[in-house]
Amino acid sequence: MKTEDPVIAGYDGVVCDLDGVVYRGAEAVPEAADALQRVVQRGVKVVYATNNASRVPAEVAEQVAGLGAPATAADVVSSAQAGAARLAEQLEPGATVLALGGDGVIEALQAVGLAPVSPGADAGELETVAAVLQGYGRQLSVRDFETAARLLTTGLPWVASNDDATLPLPWGQSPGNGAYVDLLAAAVGRRPDVVGKPHPPLYRLSLDRLGTEAARTLAVGDRLDTDIAGAEAAGVDAAWVLTGVDGPTELVLGHATPTYVLASLADLLRPYAVPTRDAGGWRCGSARVTSGADGLRIERGGADAIEVVRAGVAALLEMRDAAGERDGGGASGGDGDRLRAGAAALEHVLDDAAHGERD
Ligand SMILES: [Mg+2]
Repeated sequence: MKTEDPVIAGYDGVVCDLDGVVYRGAEAVPEAADALQRVVQRGVKVVYATNNASRVPAEVAEQVAGLGAPATAADVVSSAQAGAARLAEQLEPGATVLALGGDGVIEALQAVGLAPVSPGADAGELETVAAVLQGYGRQLSVRDFETAARLLTTGLPWVASNDDATLPLPWGQSPGNGAYVDLLAAAVGRRPDVVGKPHPPLYRLSLDRLGTEAARTLAVGDRLDTDIAGAEAAGVDAAWVLTGVDGPTELVLGHATPTYVLASLADLLRPYAVPTRDAGGWRCGSARVTSGADGLRIERGGADAIEVVRAGVAALLEMRDAAGERDGGGASGGDGDRLRAGAAALEHVLDDAAHGERD
């Protein structure tokens, strides 16, 4: 790849996250749909990988296509599908599986030739259950979890779509599938196989769907501990987009190391200036960032905000990883203060850029 080539020139396939990348709740992320159209026009394949197990792929695709992005049901890879694929490897064709979740779980099991039964099925049907697939389902009741606990107590295979502790709703955080997994685990004294991000199976299923090599596939996401950590675990490059929930503060407090830092999906179509180390600092474009005792010193020059952030992120990752080696993980004390101050300086640069756009 030449330096004037866009980021996407290095790849044949993209595994794209949805919330915080393509849309935020009910709203489109600006430029995202158009960028995805242009990516597909270049001959690059795109699938959408989602930890959301409750919705069926056709419904997800309809929402994405409604925003103007290229999407059919076959382009959506859900954690319920990854879970069903995992069980299909372990069970006889046609085996009965307790579908402890919404329509997405039921449809995913049917699609791989397994027979879903609901926790409300009669005793005779429940007696034939060979495994449990757990995904988020708003209709689930205490009695349904009781049924699942009774079946799991006998040692049946147990797969969970994802272990996200929280589910973001317009008013704040609600318990996510991970919270309901914990609830069952507390009762039965063991834990399920989890297939959604950051665990590798959802990314592996996405690679199968794309038919691309891991080395020629790029994962794109907004969450460091799921999208980016999951991509690292699956051995694919990871582009972190700053249109979603995580920012520089989450980066310095976590362990993920993105390959690229993008302002939005539109940056996939632009050349990428890789930050370079010089004596005591990092450069990106005309920005230069040095780390000192009190955080980061930023010389912006005429650089775009994203170039400042790329140089700053390079400096912070170097500090974070050095601090982790010193104290065996997790930056504490003075290291932690310097990292948080540096991250706050970058958040300030991003906030200013966002305000500039609105003015
Ligand atoms: Mg997301």
